[in-house]
Parts: sequence; C-alpha cells; structure tokens
Amino acid sequence: MESVTCNSSHLPTTSPLGERTHPQVQVTYGAVQTALSKALRGERLSFEDGVNLYHSPDLVELGAVANEMNNRKNGRDVFFNVNRHINPTNICALSCKFCAFSRKPGEEGAYAYSEDEIAHKARVAAESGATEVHMVGGLHPRWKLSNYTSIIRTVKETAPQLHVKAFTAVELDWLARKERKTIAEVLTELREAGLGSLPGGGAEIFTPYVREKICDTKLTGDGWLDIHRTAHRMGLRSNCTMLYGHIEDVEARIDHMMRLRALQDETSGFNVFIPLAFQPENNELGITRHTYGVDDLKTIAIGRLMLDNFRHIKSYWVMTGDRVAQTALHFGANDLDGTVVEEKIANMAGSRAGMAMAKSKILRVIRDADRIPVERSTVYEPIRRYENPAEDIIQ
Ligand code: SF4
Repeated sequence: MESVTCNSSHLPTTSPLGERTHPQVQVTYGAVQTALSKALRGERLSFEDGVNLYHSPDLVELGAVANEMNNRKNGRDVFFNVNRHINPTNICALSCKFCAFSRKPGEEGAYAYSEDEIAHKARVAAESGATEVHMVGGLHPRWKLSNYTSIIRTVKETAPQLHVKAFTAVELDWLARKERKTIAEVLTELREAGLGSLPGGGAEIFTPYVREKICDTKLTGDGWLDIHRTAHRMGLRSNCTMLYGHIEDVEARIDHMMRLRALQDETSGFNVFIPLAFQPENNELGITRHTYGVDDLKTIAIGRLMLDNFRHIKSYWVMTGDRVAQTALHFGANDLDGTVVEEKIANMAGSRAGMAMAKSKILRVIRDADRIPVERSTVYEPIRRYENPAEDIIQ
C-alpha cells in the first residue's frame, strides 16, 4: 500500500486562496499508518502527519486511534455543563464575511440588551441550576470598557455563584485600542468586576492566507494568540476554537492546530479545543453548504491526535447537531458543551441544532453513547458524576 496516493475528494485540498505558504504534502496510505502508529506510541505528530490523517481513507481506523488516545486521558467520562449564553449586543463595527450575527447601528434586527435584561437572564439561569454564563457579542461602536465591567458586575450581583466566561480576544483587542490601554490592563479591570475566564471565539483560522479572505479587518491570528498568552500569564484560563468548513484547506486547519499546541506548550492555559463547523446561511462568502459528518468526525479525531497537550476536546452540539456530536464521543471527544439555552450566533447563521438542550437530554445523549456523564464547572472541575442511570430521569 506504500505507493498508493490517497484521494479524499470531499476535503478542501485546493481552494481559491491565492498564495499558500505550506509545503505540499505527498499523501500515501503508508504515511497515514505511520502517523497513527506515532500517535499510539505517544509521539508528537508533525504538520505532514496531520495533513496525511485528513486524507485517511479509513474513517473508522482514524476514529479508533483517537478514541484510544481519549480513553487514556479520560476513560469513559464525558463532560458537560449547565450554562447560559448571553450575547449582550449584535451591533458591530466590523463586517466579517462569514458572520450572520452582526448588524450595523439602526439596521433591522440590531439590538443591545439593557442591564435589566442581562440581570433577568442571569437570574433565570441561576434559578435553573446554571453554573456559567457565556457572554460574547459584537464590537459596539459606542460601548466603553466601563460598559463591559458593568455587564459583568450586573451578572455577579444578580447571581454571585455564576462563573462569567466572557469576551473574545477580538472584543478585548477592540476595547484595548479604544481605551488606549494594554490587554493586561483591560483584563485586570474585567477581572476585578468578576470575569472568571475567556471563551475561545474569534480564532477562526489563524493562517494569514485564509484569515485575510474571511475577516481581513479583524485581529490577526498572532494577535489572538498573544491575548490568550497574556491572559494565561495572568492566571486566567481560556478556551480555543477553530472555524472550519468554509474556504480553508486542510493545511490551514493543521497549521491552526499547531499554533494552538505551541501556545499550550508554553502556558498550559487552554481548557479545551473546540472545532466549530461553519454555518452557511446569511454570509458574504457565497458558501451555501453545511459540513458533512465525515469531515466533522475527522476534525474531532485529528484535533485529539494533533493536540497531545490538551486533555479536553469538545464536540459542540450547536454546530453539528446532537447526532454527529454524540458520534464524536467515539472519535476522541470528551465534552459536549452545555445546555446553552439561547444560542444566537450559530442560529442566525443557519444552525439546525436548535438553541438549547435540556440537561435530561444531554445525560441521555452521553449515556446512549455508552459513556458516563460528568457535570463540570467552566474550568473542568467535576461537579457531579452520574454513575447511576436511574438518577437521570429526575433532571
Ligand atoms: S464575527 Fe464578531 S467581529 Fe466579526 S462581524 Fe461578527 S460580531 Fe463582528
């Protein structure tokens, strides 16, 4: 099989990206086997290994190796949390081509929540057993840092027990530039207001030849990584994401993962890697297709194998739907995200998964995958391990 060249026609191996800087990788089945064997021996995978794995002709074999590597770290435990998304505003100064969520001031559908509305959402979340609010939004042209600290204080004063995971590196960069402050100064003020950790949004694809095509006015990939580096050095943990399934090629995906891996080597500050499947409605990229299950599962599996210094890989049901998200629990994922309750960003972009998942359903999705549900905090401390299926129905 050594000389057979693999051909995965569903994968974006070529794209209208203009200049590419990555080496061309000659993909063979033998090279796929070499990469899988290295992973099983615990050796770090190279860029070429990652690209080869994307062209693996055997999805089940790839998944089995990723499943084994996840098993060694997490056994049969699958994490979830009870959380609530609050997107304070969709009014945004930027116009990223893939974004269906943002609106300009005065445009139909533009909104900005009042503090009373945010307090109400936080109160309802706390009463329903949430442990976290996840807050990200647009770059409101008139909001200052004091608006953001005030939003966090509103949540913490309403429900002190809620962990506030808030504001992407893109929002932090915007605030720092507006206020003429360093990222560390902005983070210090937000933390004093009650910020607990950072979400992973805004990463998209770091590789410049893709990023320039999908969000050229946004913070660069290096800038995103620098902000998370600063947060980690200040003792704030964060998540990281990768938006895939638009115009990027697999080389850009592997490059993205390797940049995350390098920062994790440096700081150990990431909680989890979250691949985000592109949602195709209402965007300016002209893409009208959803990702398919094979690509979703390969991306989870390869994320597990490439990111050897991450314990947690998330299968985010909002992006892939509950069926693929559940199947991914056999392809290296050990986290399903949470109850969410009011997901706007993917929903406005055409997500077919809905805006919420009840805790009882999360338990069933995990249990039916022959895994053990473990409710976690935002930073992955176990809150409750659901050993006994008989207890599930009372949720
Ligand atoms: S992705 Fe974020 S920064 Fe870009 S337009 Fe949408 S809300 Fe604004």
